[in-house]
Amino acid sequence: MFDKILIANRGEIACRVIKTARRMGIATVAVYSDADRDALHVRMADEAIHIGAAPARESYLLGDRILEAALKAGAQAIHPGYGFLSENAGFARACAERDVVFIGPPTAAIEAMGSKSAAKRIMEAAGVPLVPGYHGDDQDPAILRAAAEEMGYPVLLKATAGGGGKGMRQVWSGKDFDEALAAAKRESLASFGDDTMLVEKYLTKPRHVELQVFCDNSGNGVYLAERDCSVQRRHQKVIEEAPAPGMTEALRREMGETAVAAAKAIDYRGAGTVEFLLDEDGSFYFMEMNTRLQVEHPVTEMITGQDLVQWQLLVAAGQPLPLAQEQVKIRGHAFEARVYAEDPDNDFLPVTGTLGYLQPPEENRHVRVDTGVRQGDEVSVYYDPMIAKLIVWDESRERALQRLATALAAYRIGGTVTNLDFLYNLATCRPFREAELDTGFIEKHADLVFHQRPQDLARELPLAALALLLDKQQAGSASSPEDPYSPWRAGNAWRLNEPHAHRFIVHCHQQDHAVEVEQREQLYIVRCGDRETQLRGELLGDSLHLEVEGHRQRATLARTQDGFTLYLAKGACHFREVLPDLGEADTSGANAGLAAPMNGTIVALLAQAGSAVEANTPLLVMEAMKMEHTIRAPVAGTVNAFYYQPGDLVDGGAELLDFTADTSEGDKQ
Ligand code: ADP
Repeated sequence: MFDKILIANRGEIACRVIKTARRMGIATVAVYSDADRDALHVRMADEAIHIGAAPARESYLLGDRILEAALKAGAQAIHPGYGFLSENAGFARACAERDVVFIGPPTAAIEAMGSKSAAKRIMEAAGVPLVPGYHGDDQDPAILRAAAEEMGYPVLLKATAGGGGKGMRQVWSGKDFDEALAAAKRESLASFGDDTMLVEKYLTKPRHVELQVFCDNSGNGVYLAERDCSVQRRHQKVIEEAPAPGMTEALRREMGETAVAAAKAIDYRGAGTVEFLLDEDGSFYFMEMNTRLQVEHPVTEMITGQDLVQWQLLVAAGQPLPLAQEQVKIRGHAFEARVYAEDPDNDFLPVTGTLGYLQPPEENRHVRVDTGVRQGDEVSVYYDPMIAKLIVWDESRERALQRLATALAAYRIGGTVTNLDFLYNLATCRPFREAELDTGFIEKHADLVFHQRPQDLARELPLAALALLLDKQQAGSASSPEDPYSPWRAGNAWRLNEPHAHRFIVHCHQQDHAVEVEQREQLYIVRCGDRETQLRGELLGDSLHLEVEGHRQRATLARTQDGFTLYLAKGACHFREVLPDLGEADTSGANAGLAAPMNGTIVALLAQAGSAVEANTPLLVMEAMKMEHTIRAPVAGTVNAFYYQPGDLVDGGAELLDFTADTSEGDKQ
C-alpha cells in the first residue's frame, strides 16, 4: 500500500478521500489555488502545495504542475477525485510516465469512454444495448439535422466530450434544431474545448439507473448494486438513491452483468459507473460509462457497508477486490441530496456568497454530511457551488425519506440563497414518496416541488403570519430582558390597543399579502382577505408547535438569507415580512432580470438593438460558472441598446441592456 498520496482536487471530494486515506494510515498531500488557501481540504491534509491562481484552468486543471507537486512531496499516487483531471487520459499517461500511480483506470479505458460517441461504438460491438442515434464523425450540421429528422423528434443533442449535463439540448421540432445546435456547441466548446455532437432519440419517460462496478488487476469484476438518479434538473442530478425503487433481483443481475461486461470490454480497473436509461417496459440502454468515482457514491457505500475510496486505493496498489460478487450484500435504503448555493426559483442559477452561518444536521449512523466548507467560507464564481452532500440511511425507503426531510429541515445556512427548501419539497411531495420516478420528474411536478399551488398558499399563509408574530415576540423578549414593560415581553399580546390585532404584510408564494393576527389569550385568529383561520401556537427555539382545527403538529422555523422558511409536513414555506415604510424596490417591474445575475462573460446578443420583442424572447446569453444563462424579455417591449458586446466580462448586478416595456403588457405583470 502507498505511504503517501496526493489528491488532485478540492472541496468535499478532496476531504472525502483524505478521510479514508487517514483511516488507512496513508499520508495525504492537498493542492490548492489562490482562492483555496484556507480551504478545509488544505487544513485536513498532512501537507498542501500551492498550484496557481483561482480559475481552475490556472490551477486544478494544470496536470503538469500537479504532477510536479506529487513528485516534490514524494507522493506515490494521485487520486483525481471527480471533475477536473479525473477523466483526462493525457494526465493519466503523464502520471504513468513519471512513475506515479494514477488512482483510476488505465489510460486506454479513459480514452475509450472519453468520447460518448466512440464509447457507444465500443459498447455496440460488445453487445450492450444502446439508445438509437447518430454517433458519427461527420459533423456537418446538415448531416446532424438529417439524422434527427430520420429518427424523428424529440431528439437530444449531446456533446461527445460532455458531462454534468453541459453541452446538451433537447430538440422538439425541426424549427428549433439550428438554435439548439449552436447553443450546445458553444457550451461544449467553452466547457470541454471541443464541440463534436451526437444526436440521440430522446426517450420521454426513462429513469436514470446506474450500476457501480469495480474491477481489479486479476480479472475480477463486480457490481455493487445500482443507484437511481432520475430526479434531475437541467440534466444534473439532484437527489440520488440506492437501491432503485422497484428493482427486482433478476433485473439487477441482468443490468449488473451487462455493466461488468461493458467494463471488461475496455479492460477496466478500479471504480466505474455504467449509466443506463431504464425505460418503462424494463428495457435498458447504455448511456455512458464514467471512469471515476461518482459524486453520488455515498449512497452505494451506505447500503453495502463498503468504503469505495478504500476499494480504489486497494486496486490501485495492485491488490484484489475485497469481495466477490456473491459476497456483496445490500441492506436498507439511502438517499443523497445535493445542497447547492443556487436559486431554484430563478432557473437554478448558481449564487455566490459568504457562508456567514453554517450548521449542518448532526451526523450519526443515519445521517452523513460530506462537505468541503466551513462557516465563513466563500462560495465563489470559480468552482461548483455545491455546499454539501446530505446522505441518509435507514432500513426502508420510507424511513430513509423521513430522515432526509428531518435532516433538511435541520440544515441551517446563512449568507447565500440555497436549494434547501426545494430539496425539502421534493423529499416530502407525494409522487416522490411513492417513487413515481422518471427523468422528467421536476418538470412534471413543478407545482408541487416549487410549491406554488393556491391550496398550499391558503394553508400556509396563516401559519407564516403566526410564525412571524411569534418570532417577533421571541426576539423582543430575548433582546430586552431588562425591560419589563416591553410590549413583546408578555409573550402573548400587545396590549396597547384593543383588540390585540397585529397587521403586517407577508411576502409568500411570490406575492405580498396583507394579514391581521388577532390574539385572544392562547388563540390566534388570522385574517387575510375574507379568509379567517383560528389557530394556537407556541414557538420554542426553532420548533413551532401548532394546533389548527384540533390538529396538533410541529414545524421547524429557520431564518434564511432573506426571511424565513417554515418546514411543514407537506412542504417548505418561504416567506418574509415586507416593511412598507422602507419602500422596498419593485422587483416585478420591467427591468427586473435585465441585470447580470452574477459575474460572467457575455456570449451572444440575440436581439437587434431597437427591435420590439415579445415577452420571454431570449435577448442575450452570458456564461458564468461554466453554464450558459439566457436573459429573456420579462414582458413585451423594446430593446433600446445593449451595454456590452460578446466577450465582455460583466460584474454581477451590472445592467446589461436598456429595455422599455410596452405599458399595456407591463400592467399585466
Ligand atoms: P452527462 O454526461 O452530461 O451527465 P448523460 O449522457 O449522462 O450526460 O445524460 C444525462 C441525463 O440526460 C440522463 O441522466 C438522462 O436524464 C438524460 N438523457 C440522456 N440521454 C437521454 C435520452 N436519449 N433520452 C432521454 N433522456 C436522456
